[in-house]
Order: sequence, then C-alpha cells, then structure tokens
Amino acid sequence: MLIVMKLDAPRADIERVKEKIRSLGYTPHEIPGDHRTAIGITGNKSRPDAEQFLTLASVLEAIPVTKPFKLVSRDAKPEDSLVHVGEEVVGGKELTMIAGPCSVEGRQQIIDIAFTLKEMGVRFLRGGAYKPRTSPYSFQGYKTEALHYLKDARDATGLKIVTEVKDTETLPLVAEVADVLQVGARNMQNYSLLEAIGDLRKPVLLKRGLSATIEELLMAAEYILHGGNYNVILCERGIRTFETATRNTLDLNAIPIIKKLSHLPIIVDPSHGIGVWDGVASMALAAIAAGADGLIIEVHPDPTMALSDGYQSLKVNKFKQLLEKLEQLAPIMDRTFTRTAINAEAVE
Ligand code: PEP
Ligand code: MN
Repeated sequence: MLIVMKLDAPRADIERVKEKIRSLGYTPHEIPGDHRTAIGITGNKSRPDAEQFLTLASVLEAIPVTKPFKLVSRDAKPEDSLVHVGEEVVGGKELTMIAGPCSVEGRQQIIDIAFTLKEMGVRFLRGGAYKPRTSPYSFQGYKTEALHYLKDARDATGLKIVTEVKDTETLPLVAEVADVLQVGARNMQNYSLLEAIGDLRKPVLLKRGLSATIEELLMAAEYILHGGNYNVILCERGIRTFETATRNTLDLNAIPIIKKLSHLPIIVDPSHGIGVWDGVASMALAAIAAGADGLIIEVHPDPTMALSDGYQSLKVNKFKQLLEKLEQLAPIMDRTFTRTAINAEAVE
C-alpha cells in the first residue's frame, strides 16, 4: 500500500504516518517526489486497512499497489527518478554515456583511454577490475591492482568510475573506488549482494540477468530500494534467446515497458547486447530512439589486444563517429547530449 501525502504536508504529519505504520509492525519507506511525498508500506502479509491512514492529518490517498514490485513502481513515484553521481545526473534530459574497456588492463592503458574519452566529452569511465567470467581459464581481472588504477584515472581526469562488484567480500574495496557500483548480469539475483548494496547510498548500475524477465529485473532493483538505496540505474544488456547469430538478443522492448512500469532510469549496453563491434553503433542509436536514458559502451584503443570482449569493443575513431550521430539524434528524442569536456578545474 502507498500512502500519498498532501502537497506540502508538514514533516510532523509525515512522521506521524510513518510511526503509525511502524506501530502496526510494518516498514515505512518515504518516497519524496517533486509534487508529493508518498510513503510505501512493506512487511505486511495482507492489505492494510486504508481507513486507519485516511483519518491522519495531511493524508490524501491510500492506494493499494497490486504489482509485486512496490518501491520501484511508477505507482509509488509518478515522475522519473534522477540518480545523482557527484555533479552528473542520470535519468534527466541529458543522455548519459559510460565508456571504456571491458577490463582494466594496466595503469597507463586506463589513464590514456580516460583522457581520450574525456576529450570527447564523456563523463563516466567503465572498466572491470573483478571479472566474473564464464570460464575459469579466462582473464579474471587485475582486481585490487585494477582498483588502484581506476582511482588514478579518476584523480587524473575527474571522470566518474563505473566498475563491477562481484561479491559481498570485495564490496567495501570496490565501493571505495567506484562512483557507480555495477552489478553484473550474472549477479542480478545474488540477493546477499543486493542487500549489502541496499545498505549503501552509492549509485548502482543493475544489469539485467541473462535469462531474467523484466519483472525479475525490477524485483532485483526492489531489493536495493528496500534497503534504502534509491540510487539505482537499470541496464538492459541483452538476454538469451534461441538466436545464435549474436551473443545475446538486445531486448529494446524492455525500454518502453520499463519506462511505463518504473520511475528508475534505464540505460542500454549494446556491446554485450549484440556482441560484435560492427553492430554496436546501430543498436546504440536504436536504444536512444527507444527512449533509453543513456548507454554503456566498450571502447578499446586496440580491440585485437583486449584481454576480454575485444570482438565487441569499438575503436576510438568508431566510437567518435557514434558520438556524432548521437548528438544529432538527441534533439529528435527531446534529449540533450553535451560533448564538451568536463572542466579541468573541477579535477583535484
Ligand atoms: C561487462 O560489463 O563487462 C559485463 C561483464 O557485463 P554483463 O554483466 O552484462 O555480462
Ligand atoms: Mn565486457
């Protein structure tokens, strides 16, 4: 159930409703919005009696939420959520671009690519330190060493760092460096990890599982919001279908559906979605045309030498061409895509 407060409800009235919810043995979740404050109720086995809330001061409505996901749903918050990463905002009018190699392969490599991307106006650098790979014989990432290199790249350029957290054990280490914690497709239903991330307040990029439905993705996000961390960015990265010509099938349908069901921002990973570099630009443009809030793209200075996912990584010049096309597409989609490099003075 969702308790919707009147516009400008005084703090004391909001607190009284939360207290009432607690007194019934349930958990209140305050969801501040631009136009109203709503208080979600979880922990109830059956539908609470609406009457007991409607009599409290400043309560406008008590709405039953019939969907299995509550806090992530548009019922709970009609307007789009913005996820703030320092001075950057994900989910607003401005499209978000996250780019970089699949894996961090060395200090100089990541710093060089960070500078190259920064000059192109990119504000978020991706790079895996911990790589959950299908094969135990594949490159597993340079782990703590790579985290140091990512930190150096951020200190040198001011780019925000997006990197994957593989398990709860290494979460504190990764959270120290990451500006956005990436939860990989293989970990979308790692509930201990989702719960631990829910306890933090750091932005999260939650990737859709290889065989996860849209509802399962939203339920995974619900775990994180339920813990109190509302800074979740969803990511469509392709799902497994009967098709074998591509690594995955990028489910662009998910974007309008998720936009309807949830207030959370959603970005698309066309690199893993199609799995071959020469299809990445088309799918990136298609994702923005479908209403995505941004993209995460693998870019490598020399994909033939990449330690992981080289075949789906864009060379710098191809990535630049894509940025130029996105710049043209953005206004058609009523979005902006600013490509001026972040202010050098902002860098410490
Ligand atoms: C990645 O971003 O490099 C990655 C491993 O992605 P996914 O979890 O979507 O497979
Ligand atoms: Mn990859």
